Amino acid sequence: MSICPVCNQLSSTQYRCPSCLGMMEDSGRVMDYYDDYSPYTEIDSLKMEDGIPDDEKDNQCPHVFYCSQCAAENVLLIHEWRSESN
Ligand SMILES: [Zn+2]
Ligand SMILES: [Zn+2]
Repeated sequence: MSICPVCNQLSSTQYRCPSCLGMMEDSGRVMDYYDDYSPYTEIDSLKMEDGIPDDEKDNQCPHVFYCSQCAAENVLLIHEWRSESN
């Protein structure tokens, strides 16, 4: 099984906003973030557009990052860590 370091707060992820180069904040997983107003359509279209195979997708956790400076939103795929538990 694999775990997302961002969801589990094991790693501090910081990304620069592509628009204004400000620091973007993690706003949570895409699933949670879009849950309120567009349950499935957004995510389905995201999956279709990013072109990442399903098997690779299993080990990635899509997060929404928000820029407080220019209000930009970006979805970033966080690589999950393999937990080598016996
Ligand atoms: Zn995550
Ligand atoms: Zn920005």
